[in-house]
Amino acid sequence: MINPFETAKGQLDAAARLANLDADKIEQLKLPDRYVEVSIPVKMDNGKQRMFTGFRSQHNNARGPYKGGIRYHQQVNLDEVRALSFWMSFKNAVVNVPFGGGKGGIIVNPKELSLGELERLSRGYVQKMWRLFGPELDVPAPDVNTNGQIMGWMLDEFEKQSGTKAPGTFTGKSLDNGGSQGREEATGFGGGYVFEECLKANAAKVPPGGSVVIQGFGNVATFFAEAAVNLGFKVVALSDSKGGIYNPEGFDLKAVAAHKKTAGALKDFPGAKNITNEELLELPVDVLVPAALENVLTGENAEKIKAKLIVEMANGPTSKEADAIFEKKGIVVIPDILANSGGVCVSYFEWYQNMKQETWDKKQVLDKLSVQIRQAFVDVLAAKNEYKTSFRSAAYILAAKRIIEKMG
Ligand code: NAD
Repeated sequence: MINPFETAKGQLDAAARLANLDADKIEQLKLPDRYVEVSIPVKMDNGKQRMFTGFRSQHNNARGPYKGGIRYHQQVNLDEVRALSFWMSFKNAVVNVPFGGGKGGIIVNPKELSLGELERLSRGYVQKMWRLFGPELDVPAPDVNTNGQIMGWMLDEFEKQSGTKAPGTFTGKSLDNGGSQGREEATGFGGGYVFEECLKANAAKVPPGGSVVIQGFGNVATFFAEAAVNLGFKVVALSDSKGGIYNPEGFDLKAVAAHKKTAGALKDFPGAKNITNEELLELPVDVLVPAALENVLTGENAEKIKAKLIVEMANGPTSKEADAIFEKKGIVVIPDILANSGGVCVSYFEWYQNMKQETWDKKQVLDKLSVQIRQAFVDVLAAKNEYKTSFRSAAYILAAKRIIEKMG
């Protein structure tokens, strides 16, 4: 079993050696500043009390408040939360928002809870954690299985406990509760802006109007697909948990979305061939975009990947072994901490709007996102050229330098 945290720490070590970064600071960055485990009693609908376990890891706040999502999942554990908080520090530094890294979670399958139980659990988490949170301290957000409604309950509980009015304490809120326009599109479109910069810089040998394969058809995949089509590319394969569809002529995305809505799955889309998720990754295309799960590109399948460019929209889709094989084969990889940083960038815009009591429209948000994430690409490219290394190492070098500079 590949441990993504070990992979990430290995990537940081490699980058630190290349750029001769301060070894003590690098060791410090491998551990979170603080992590907390809490027990949360929740009164269930049947009148009985059930105990839940919650976590928060605050990795580093040298550049600003800790920032990162809270996930609800039956397999959440402290190690995972610590690892994810590490990634957030680096992602926030790459896209240059003034945040550090944090992450939280509760061990729970939220589908087994009623809405009332879910609300009591979310409020219970904040009752135990609220002293750690605040717009200048630690700013949580949604992650796997959490959403704007849960952030709304958490904010309300935080304000009750702290006796303050502080909407900037949580991001990913619903629009009527202080959320930002453009958050839904942010990660996918952000990846699209990075992809466009990559083409402009001629960083990979991808022909104009080439073919793109996307694993996933959720929030991130859908908006990335739209961006790719707007750039003149053909999206020739897409997938969900039940399998993928392939048509070398390219898909009409609206028709695919309509089919998914009525059929409940992508498979059997008219005119397309059904394929497995494994087959999808190995298709003969120009661009491969993992936008669903971690660890899908490994030592097992990396030799069979034919794409010239991989844009990592999912978190941690590529193992260390696969990375080495791609480097040898000349496949260019745009790393997750750059490619999918559009989401956290717009979270920063939400926080900023809350702090300044401003409301931006969608165009303003997406225009600002475009400027900020394209600059992140340019900065990573400069580091790549300076250190003659991969985009991934360059992103780690850039982020580590930015964090270390503020660590004092
Ligand atoms: P989502 O839940 O909207 O979509 C996930 C997609 O993955 C769905 O299409 C689902 O069918 C598919 N999927 C699930 N299991 C699968 C399997 N076994 N094989 C193939 N496909 C499978 O999630 P999302 O928000 O689009 O996130 C996708 C990825 O992007 C995740 O890795 C997430 O961590 C990462 N990410 C998301 C954001 C964001 O803002 N949403 C930000 C940064 C990173």
